[in-house]
Amino acid sequence: EDFCKSLPKIELHAHLNGSLSETTLIQLGSTNSDIAEYQKLKHVPPHERTLNDCFKIFQFAHKVTTSPNSVYAATKNVIDEFFLDNVIYLELRTTPRSEDGMDAETYIESVVEAIKDNEKDILVKLILSINRQHSLEVCRQHLDIILKMKKKYPDIIKGIDLSGNPHHGRFSNLQKLFQEARDHGLFTTIHCAEIVNNDEVKDILHFEPDRIGHAPFVHPRYGGCAENWTTLQKNKVPTEFCLTSNIISGTTNLYENHHIREWINNKLPFSINTDDKGIFHTNLSQEFEYALKYLALSPLELWQISLDSVDHTFATSEEKSLLRFKLEQWKKGTF
Ligand code: 5GP
Repeated sequence: EDFCKSLPKIELHAHLNGSLSETTLIQLGSTNSDIAEYQKLKHVPPHERTLNDCFKIFQFAHKVTTSPNSVYAATKNVIDEFFLDNVIYLELRTTPRSEDGMDAETYIESVVEAIKDNEKDILVKLILSINRQHSLEVCRQHLDIILKMKKKYPDIIKGIDLSGNPHHGRFSNLQKLFQEARDHGLFTTIHCAEIVNNDEVKDILHFEPDRIGHAPFVHPRYGGCAENWTTLQKNKVPTEFCLTSNIISGTTNLYENHHIREWINNKLPFSINTDDKGIFHTNLSQEFEYALKYLALSPLELWQISLDSVDHTFATSEEKSLLRFKLEQWKKGTF
């Protein structure tokens, strides 16, 4: 347990409003019943959970992150919590949102301010999410804001993500926007195959994003198709895995059966991440712990996952070198 905690870790898939701790929710004035709703997944038997249920839960965080101050405080706390878990590099992601008295630009600025003010020894970057549930028009507006913000904060805003309920929207309708983002120098990461949808997976893999998220239903053993799996083996797009998230949202039944095994067996690139540490009651050390326990990975292999994850970051080459140096130093003192 101490090993996974002290291992310097790289977090590449963390949604801001799914990462809020109970302490943060209390600080921001959540009611007890809202806190219970936000945390309820831990009490629901696995066979009664569906992905759709999970998507209803974010509203309980959104209720209290409606002002620049609360968004700033929430971001600051999330960074501090990852730092305390020995995460040395964090890519936080969030969907631009407008509320009474806070437009989408101000929302992003508040997150950026908290990242800029961070003084802890953890490097933090921001990915902005497009929600596939939104209309094309709203996605277009959000992209314009994202491009404007990226111009203003090029050292912090590094990428764009496609997330939201996979039962809604289609990547093909949004592909042009993602291409435009890429043309403007943003890295791309796409939530992929959270439900069986081989046509969409094909489109996503052919777009060749810098990373994909989750990918539970890409391998033929899990309902994917041979053609897509072959493309992935060829493209070697790094995959962001979130073990507990998949267990709790019902895409995987047991840690031992997680589709990450196919990536390990085929030596495909991946990282291990938390997704929504507040909703899923986890932290990155815990996720590495599960990998140690259920996937028969050795401590040295976990260290190697951290090191390899540096390659998948949206950081600069200088920043990557520094992260690798930290990991090498830690290894010398540990093994
Ligand atoms: P926010 O973007 O508001 O900071 O974080 C919450 C949002 O992240 C959710 O409303 C949802 O759009 C997205 N999200 C969080 N977890 C997941 C996930 O596991 N899959 C997908 N597709 N989207 C997610």
